[in-house]
Amino acid sequence: MAQKSLIDRLAILADAAKYDASCASSGTAKKNSLGGKGIGSTEGMGICHAYAPDGRCISLLKVLLTNHCIFDCHYCINRKSSNVERARFTPQEIADLTLSFYRRNYIEGLFLSSGIVKSSNHTMEQLVECARILRQEYDFRGYIHLKTIPEADPELVHQAGLHADRVSINVELPTDSGLTRLAPDKDARQIEGAMGGMKMAIRQAKDETKRFRHAPRFAPAGQSTQMIVGADAASDADIVGKASRLYDTFRLRRVYYSAFSPIPDASAVLPLKRPPLIREHRLYQSDWLMRFYGYAPGEVMQATEADGNLPLDIDPKLAWALKFRERFPVDVNRATREELLRVPGLGVKAVGQIIASRRHRTLRLDDVARLTVSITKVRPFICALDWRPVMLTDRADLRALLAPKREQLELFAA
Ligand code: SF4
Repeated sequence: MAQKSLIDRLAILADAAKYDASCASSGTAKKNSLGGKGIGSTEGMGICHAYAPDGRCISLLKVLLTNHCIFDCHYCINRKSSNVERARFTPQEIADLTLSFYRRNYIEGLFLSSGIVKSSNHTMEQLVECARILRQEYDFRGYIHLKTIPEADPELVHQAGLHADRVSINVELPTDSGLTRLAPDKDARQIEGAMGGMKMAIRQAKDETKRFRHAPRFAPAGQSTQMIVGADAASDADIVGKASRLYDTFRLRRVYYSAFSPIPDASAVLPLKRPPLIREHRLYQSDWLMRFYGYAPGEVMQATEADGNLPLDIDPKLAWALKFRERFPVDVNRATREELLRVPGLGVKAVGQIIASRRHRTLRLDDVARLTVSITKVRPFICALDWRPVMLTDRADLRALLAPKREQLELFAA
């Protein structure tokens, strides 16, 4: 059979990569006269955006080396029993594509993943080879994010870190039982073992960089992982617990949450419907509460409902505040940073500005309003020089008053 053209393979393998949430695909729908496949089109071909270690938003070519796979993970469109059109690149082809897009200023880096072809070791070798060609033969200084294969030889996984800025190893599912049921070829211990090895190597490289100016760099942007949400029965409390353990144990930079999306010819063990996208959003909010707002995982879990899931109509910070109303109102002129960070509607930046401003004057409600997006949400939980929320936190209908309007929530279903 004739080899598919480069552009056809790119269409297949960039589209297949969109299921990986570790960097989000561009939402741009820019078609052209070639039905969305020609030069300039951003539809179907995977340009995605990610944040570099210095905080810049960068665009990456997001693509798979191949969507052939010898594994049979039920939730994956590329699993061996799936009926999708298959394609494959060589490491040289990916390196050339990356460089040519980079030279045209379309991208600033590469996000490369792959199905498992022949064996885990063979696949890992191919991924590393692509990054090696870019770095050593083309002297490519752009950003590289490599997915690694936890079942591969640890030495091969290690080599990924020598070329990539960021590496990721997907835990896939929040519970070991979910993994055994839905990804029978994968092993939770192997995945965590690979993450542990990566953590040690990153730490060692950091130490060496401090001692030797020319020490080799090793995954300077750290490691991340992805969890699929809604493909099994795991609750948000299970997911929050798992994410927090992964952050603590493996010093991950990010845990990405990916709402399970139904795939053609889906296995009968999967749910028929995708979970609401807002659930994924609530999990990201809970993740921020743990990473930037000082909430312990147990506190985030306190915000869940009786079924162990976070409420969908309000954000987890508001849900927590409504459950622990006795902790409010807090006085914006006296409260500690930690107490202010608990106030629904006050972000990290606004809290910093409140603390800086109150050194010079006593704050009124209007002063706080100027620093927030919505004072309506903040007002019931604070006092200021001219404001005290009489009986407001005791109101039974406070949740309904503060919940976003239905149309705002429907944006997530679009
Ligand atoms: S290993 Fe599993 S998740 Fe990865 S491509 Fe193969 S079937 Fe899909």
